[in-house]
Formats: sequence, structure tokens, C-alpha cells
Amino acid sequence: MSCIEQKSSPAVAGEQAGRDHNPFDAMEPRLPEKTPAERRNGRHVKANDIPPQGVYLPNNNILAPHMMSPEYVQLSTAAAITLGIMSGRMYGCECTRCLNLLLTYPEGCRANCAYCGLARHREADRDYADRNFIRVDWPAVPMAEIIDIVAQDPENSPFHRMCISMITHPRSEADTFTVLEHWTDRIDPDAIPVSILSNPTTMTRDDVQRTRDLGADIFTVALDAATPELFDRTRGKGVQSPHKWSKYWEILNDAKDIFGPQKFGAHIIVGMGETEYEVLNLVQELVDVGGHSHMFCFFPEQGSLMDHLPATPRDQWRRVQLARYLIDYRDVRIDHMRFDDLGRVKSYGISDSELADIIEEGIAFRTSGCPGKFQDDISACDRPYGDSPPSDIASYPFQPQKKDLKKIRKQLDIPVRVE
Ligand code: SF4
Repeated sequence: MSCIEQKSSPAVAGEQAGRDHNPFDAMEPRLPEKTPAERRNGRHVKANDIPPQGVYLPNNNILAPHMMSPEYVQLSTAAAITLGIMSGRMYGCECTRCLNLLLTYPEGCRANCAYCGLARHREADRDYADRNFIRVDWPAVPMAEIIDIVAQDPENSPFHRMCISMITHPRSEADTFTVLEHWTDRIDPDAIPVSILSNPTTMTRDDVQRTRDLGADIFTVALDAATPELFDRTRGKGVQSPHKWSKYWEILNDAKDIFGPQKFGAHIIVGMGETEYEVLNLVQELVDVGGHSHMFCFFPEQGSLMDHLPATPRDQWRRVQLARYLIDYRDVRIDHMRFDDLGRVKSYGISDSELADIIEEGIAFRTSGCPGKFQDDISACDRPYGDSPPSDIASYPFQPQKKDLKKIRKQLDIPVRVE
């Protein structure tokens, strides 16, 4: 795949539906359908047992080879382009600064999260290695080949960070340890630090400790949903998925103890039905315990159980993006901010002139995530167009330019300052 944009955007954005936010009642996922027995657990991939031959580019017209971690991992299209494994260009950026790796198995992820392209219900019509995730394809590549390329010159690598994304699978912990060990055997984690995007459901505190002992720098938990109710609806009982809010917080607290301040955090998706107050309250809670939030704008992933729902309206997203940045990096507290009856941000708790300066800097609107080598509030994990098409950018994978800032101010309904 040479283009990073998903071929079609299946749902209209919330603002086109006449709203400036996505309310809870409008964001109900559809129910998963029953998977035929012969398609369950990657049975046909294992039965045909086609041996992998190096890089596999996702192609739903052919049967996927029998690939498994730790020998194989999948990596984002952006990482594959940056690594030189795929050709292609990305709008506005030459490369990605984060090497995002995803564990891979014929059975795929055994969870069924409603917004996710990797979810279990998709085995009915698509092999795991062929599923889109955060809007892009994820080619499968031998881990040894990735390490060989990066180990040639880690100090000058375009990657500022590597991240292992675990999935819900019985082998997930053991294979994460092996991938991490193989990486740190050849690549100094001081040259390219490693993050773990964990799967708390199958993890213990000892597992968290082990990732730290093996050289991981930052540990994150993909809470994704901002409230327990939403979590249950999109990742738990509501969609026949095994996750529990309390278990996610248990592992998050373990990460806090083991990794320490500023070295743990949570992923949150904005616009799945929570209010702006609710999501920012969670952001504040994370900051209060020494962590960070990494935010994604909800986008209806093709093939997911929420692909019929509206993307987050840009005004809701910008308000949350800006307020989150102020709480995470500028010592503003949620109790300094004001909200309306629907929980929407009405004021940001700082003077208009300070706010104008921060908007002008543009960093608040860049993709958020674990830091790279530029500065603490600029994420290595830039996920180009993972939560929007380039024609209507949600998280900027590059420094927003003048024309971008003009658009952002309009979306925020904050006019240009007149000096
Ligand atoms: S656990 Fe992660 S990878 Fe699996 S379905 Fe849920 S969000 Fe997707």
C-alpha cells in the first residue's frame, strides 16, 4: 500500500450530523455477529499452514501465511515506509519518529473492542494479518530483519522510540519479553527508548516489573474509554469482550509504582460518548498520580463495530486537545476551567493572551504520546493520520503551519488575536 489514507470514510463527521459533540446516546456500537466455526481462531490459516517468506503486505484476496510472534511482528505503514520496507509518501512528513510494532498470531486478538479494526469478530471475513488498524495496513515483517536494519546505526536512526503493542492473546506476555530482549541485545535503549502498550487483561504485576527489568522506558495502558460505563459498552460485556475497567486500573497503578513519575500513562479516545468534563477529569486524575494521557480522536474504523458512527466533531476534539495539553504540560487544573451544562469546555482557566500564545505555538494540536528526542511535550509517536484523513486532520503529525493554525482557531471558535 503506497497511500496512507483509508480508501473511504464510512460515516459522516458529527458536525455534519448537526452536533458539536458526540453524546453517549448517539454512540451505541452494533453487536458482533456469530463467526462460522471454520473461521474461528485463525483455523484456516493454521490448517493451510503456508510458510511465510519474509515481508507480508496485507492482501485480503489471498490466504495469509502462518506467521507468529516473536519471529514475526506487524508494523505500521508509516514505520514500514520509514524503515524502507515499503515505498510511499506521507502528507506533510518524511517519516515517523516511532517504530510501532504489533504482536501477530493467526488467532489474532481475542478481545472484541467496538472501535478497533483488530477485534475478534472480524475473523469472520478477514485474516488477522490483513486487518486495518488506526486507519492503515500493518505489514508483517520478521523481527530479526527490523532489528538488523535499526542496529546498523541506532544513534542516527529516524526513530526516536520503539513501542511494542501487546494484544489479548495467551502468548502475548512471553512474546513481548522475547521481542524486547532481542531488541535490547542489539540496540541500546538509551539510543532508542522502548515503550510498552500493554494488555492488562492477561497481565500480572510481575509481568509489568519484567518489562522494566528488560529495559522498557515507559509503560502505557490503553484505557481508551473515558468512563467505566463506556468502557463496559465498548470493551467489555457490551460487545462480548473480556476487559474490565478495574483490571486496567490495577495494572496502571502497578506501572505507576514500578516505572515511576512521567514514565507511565494511558491512551484515551475522545468522542465515543463521554462528556468533555469526564475525559478531562480523567486527564487530571492521571496527572495527579504522576502520569500522562495520550489522546486519540475517535474515527469510525472500517470493519469495526462502530464504523457506522460519526467521527468526533472537530470543535469537541480541539477543545479537549487544548485543555488536555494545558493540564498535562502547563500546570492548569480542571478546577480552573469552566464547563457548560453538557460538560463542554467554556473557559480554559488561563488569560486570553496566554491561551493565544499556546495556540500559536501549535504543539497542543500535535499527536500526543510518549516523548521523543525533541522535547517532552512533542511525541515520538506521531501516528500519521491514525485518527483522521489528511484532508481534515485531527492530530497533526507535524508542526502545524500558519494555515493549519487558522483552521484550528476557527474550529475552537477563538479568533486571531489583534495586537
Ligand atoms: S484489546 Fe486492543 S487490539 Fe484487541 S480488540 Fe481491543 S483495542 Fe483492539
